Amino acid sequence: MPARAKLSAARRRPAASPWPNGARRCVFLQFHFDAESGWLSRDPATADLPGVLSQGVYGAKMGVPRILDLLKAERVPSSWFIPGWVAERHPAAARAIRDRGVEIGHHGYLHERARPDDPAGERESFARGMKALETVLDVKPIGYSAPGWDLTPITLDLVREHGMIYSTNLMDDAYPYLHPGSPPVVEIPVDWILDDAPYYAFHPKWLPRPMQSPESVYTVWRDEFLGCYELGGMFDLTCHPQFSGHPSRLLALRKLIRLIKTHRNVWWATGREIAELWIRRAGVTR
Ligand code: ZN
Repeated sequence: MPARAKLSAARRRPAASPWPNGARRCVFLQFHFDAESGWLSRDPATADLPGVLSQGVYGAKMGVPRILDLLKAERVPSSWFIPGWVAERHPAAARAIRDRGVEIGHHGYLHERARPDDPAGERESFARGMKALETVLDVKPIGYSAPGWDLTPITLDLVREHGMIYSTNLMDDAYPYLHPGSPPVVEIPVDWILDDAPYYAFHPKWLPRPMQSPESVYTVWRDEFLGCYELGGMFDLTCHPQFSGHPSRLLALRKLIRLIKTHRNVWWATGREIAELWIRRAGVTR
């Protein structure tokens, strides 16, 4: 089959379950260890506001170990996306993540939101983030989650140039798919509905909005999983240690994981496993 035909076949909706070993659904848990970088990139003035930054520090000090312990106790896999600056700032926490054997992904340098009018800046941040993860953690990620999930026309080129095989940023599908071009780059779709930040992130000045209760967030995620289980697709949940690392939210996350575990034929996978599966299914070679 010509390469182009193989690619178009790979983009068609799977007629049968695409997941391995007879699984009906795929669950992908990803964590974004942003620490202070999310606040600093939002407004550099927060560098002189330790109260604001302390919300991010909580993620490093309390959120990361608590979530790692939860995942270990529940025996579920995960992928962790870490900005390079965070690995440099919190090397012990970043190494603790790596040493649990979970996948480490790329998440920019200082969590800069990429801008189409600044390709040089995006290119520099991308390379700097990769370099920091290699230096601090001795890992070379193969997956990229852009800060704020903001892609530009050059982002996928950067993913390829750095030898990566997947992006998890776009919201236009319920299944993974291959981006056009070569070598293959798999998109693993995300959505704000399955991100903890819109429900939990708060600051009186920067994010003045009501926080949602963990119970209501659990209800949304539960129903999204149940709908996914019935209708197909994948359940791709994104949580941040600084938000979901608080006790009531941890309990909600554990409750959700335990609910999912009561369902049979669910494939719990990392981003790497999903991307490699999709590339194999498409029959394309790198
Ligand atoms: Zn982030």
